[in-house]
Amino acid sequence: MTTSSGRSAAIIGAGQTGVSAALGLLDKGFDVTVYSNLDQQQLRDGIPASGTALILGAAQRAEESLGLNTYLATAPLSTGESVRVVDAGAEAIAFDGWFDGFRGIAVDTRLKTDDRLTLFQQRGGRFVVQPVDPEGLDTIAAKADLTLVATGRGGLSSLFPVNPARTAYDKPQRSLLAFTVTGLPHGPEVFAHRSTAGGAHNALTVVADQGEVFWGPYLHKDAGPTWAFLGWARPGSDWERRFATVTSAESALTVATDLHRDYIDWDLPEVTELRVIDEDPHSWLTGAVTQLVRSGVGHTAGGHPVAALGDTAVAFDPIAGQGAQGGLIQAAALVHRAGAHDGPFDTAWLTAAFEEFYDHRARAAQQVTRLFLADPELAAYGSLFFAAASGSSRFASKLLGLLDDPRPFESVTSEATAKQLIADFAGEPTDELLARFVPAGRFQRSGLALSAV
Ligand SMILES: Cc1cc2nc3c(=O)[nH]c(=O)nc-3n(C[C@H](O)[C@H](O)[C@H](O)COP(=O)(O)OP(=O)(O)OC[C@H]3O[C@@H](n4cnc5c(N)ncnc54)[C@H](O)[C@@H]3O)c2cc1C
Repeated sequence: MTTSSGRSAAIIGAGQTGVSAALGLLDKGFDVTVYSNLDQQQLRDGIPASGTALILGAAQRAEESLGLNTYLATAPLSTGESVRVVDAGAEAIAFDGWFDGFRGIAVDTRLKTDDRLTLFQQRGGRFVVQPVDPEGLDTIAAKADLTLVATGRGGLSSLFPVNPARTAYDKPQRSLLAFTVTGLPHGPEVFAHRSTAGGAHNALTVVADQGEVFWGPYLHKDAGPTWAFLGWARPGSDWERRFATVTSAESALTVATDLHRDYIDWDLPEVTELRVIDEDPHSWLTGAVTQLVRSGVGHTAGGHPVAALGDTAVAFDPIAGQGAQGGLIQAAALVHRAGAHDGPFDTAWLTAAFEEFYDHRARAAQQVTRLFLADPELAAYGSLFFAAASGSSRFASKLLGLLDDPRPFESVTSEATAKQLIADFAGEPTDELLARFVPAGRFQRSGLALSAV
């Protein structure tokens, strides 16, 4: 049961962060209006998903805490991740880690948005199709008790200045290619050469001078259980040149298939099974993200404080899957805090809410993303982590746990503290663990032959 608190909230942007917060605030008794530049049909069928949006334990609990559907019953789940690293042309590192205490789930952001928007309106929320500019935001914020800006990385984000002390990069570290495809099951027979879990483990491959490739189970809005591909290309690489040629779902799959033939042939039989999703011309995207942290609170021309939510506040390169997770965690915390608050949602209140999110999640999530990006500033110790994971399944599991809860990585600022965390995670001395490291030599190749059956 919801009771009216007599308070109003305005949310600009109907991505998954905005609509999740909107439903939550509605349940807390707020009178909520969502403003969107696109109508519901366009949000579902007229745009690509804003990312793969694989989410793990804490982000799923955040959704549950708002009473939202997590799709755990309908989506193909992942229970771990197999990692392979090619370094200087050599097949160097291979490990297969299991998620400890959570499962991964990647649901089409357009499906989540559509479902949640429908529920929001059924429960009495107001949905207004209107692109909001800074002037319009001033008018909206003057009337609402609480105004949240969730317009993604573009939109109204420039209202929130970048915080240079919290931001490591001034440009994207990778070019991205993402798409969704069908035709491959999720059973133990696929990717069996990488993991006994087969298709229940995400597959990440790092080719040191080119970039990274990820395959993972996905719930597509039309085609249901499918596969998501994510590719990262380093600046100036052959992969970057290939990604730049993609103009359609078909060409995305062709580029990825050729890339596997030339660089990652051990997974090629899986990739050749895949087909584009005919009913969705927007099943692909290319682009790049500058990872950054903005000020969590901005002010309109009339001086009204407004809060940034999701990608508008903090943007991540997707290599460690932190963007959607962070947005949902931030939205849930803000909704619960607002529900328990009696006073005005002034600058001090909004700032405190953002700082808590930054302290408890975003700062560590930015650092873990830098680790997975092989940031040169972390190079002295960053490379130890994958080597250690190949020698200890316990450590591999804990390393993947940083994608769910990145906070333990905050203790790592030097080679000595990196080795301390490795020892803590592995439950044995780091040097002994690293001494066991032997290069993979030659990765096992896929023996998949589905089409032949
Ligand atoms: C390739 C890729 C892969 C990713 N993979 C992962 C992953 O595996 N795990 C993970 O956690 N994260 C991942 N992310 C990040 C994740 O997808 C995003 O963090 C998340 O989807 C952002 O949601 P959002 O609601 O904050 O923003 P958006 O989804 O961008 O929503 C913003 C909405 O605001 C609307 N809007 C914009 N301007 C206006 C305006 N002026 N007025 C009204 N409305 C406006 C837009 O139309 C849009 O609907 C990935 C990102 C990318 C690019």
